Amino acid sequence: MNTTLEERYQKLIAHIAQYRQPESVCLIAVSKTFPASDIQTLYNLGQRHFGENYIQEWQDKIFRLPENIVWHIIGDIQSNKTRVVAENAHWVHTLSREKIAKRLSQQRPNDLPPLQVCVEVNISEENQKHGLAVNEVYDFCQYIKELPQLNLRGLMAVPSDADEQTVKQQMQQMNTLFLQLNQQGLALDTLSMGMSGDWQWALEYGATHIRIGSALFGKRNYAQ
Ligand SMILES: *Cc1c(COP(=O)(O)O)cnc(C)c1O
Repeated sequence: MNTTLEERYQKLIAHIAQYRQPESVCLIAVSKTFPASDIQTLYNLGQRHFGENYIQEWQDKIFRLPENIVWHIIGDIQSNKTRVVAENAHWVHTLSREKIAKRLSQQRPNDLPPLQVCVEVNISEENQKHGLAVNEVYDFCQYIKELPQLNLRGLMAVPSDADEQTVKQQMQQMNTLFLQLNQQGLALDTLSMGMSGDWQWALEYGATHIRIGSALFGKRNYAQ
């Protein structure tokens, strides 16, 4: 890209403001595969919420970065990584297994506020994707509500990488599920969906948290 990270950030912030009051949406800068120095650059511009997928990579970066960054874990968590997440993250967007949820609650230090969590929904019903089927979500939410060191906030989804109509249909389904669960008494306030390619649509369908990586940091190189 010919633009700088700062230019892309300022442009994205202005672009989001055309769709929504800035206070009504949380921009999560997804920094996986990018160095701590890029995170620091956005931090210096006022960005506080960052998302990471790979726990080891994230661990290698956090100790070099300011303590008041709000860390959102948006990747799958293996059981041997729950402790570092419980001790250092603020949010987990990808809960879909009881075992992982239970470990995170048990390992969350008592002097920290509960971990803020979302349940991941496999809204595109693709086999290779993580997340629960729509009809499994309510029971899993009830399970999470019993765990003392987790605070259930809402739902997260990664719609399929498909045509506009398909993506919007899936976002609409997420919106409907979110409303239904609230009618059933769950008091959710977070709908985490929307990435670089589809965040405008996600905002149309009620997203409260959008997770933007490549539109800010550039193309990812996983080989590095
Ligand atoms: C990588 C990732 C993102 C960011 O994707 P971009 O298309 O680069 O914006 C958002 N959400 C999840 C779950 C991701 O893994």
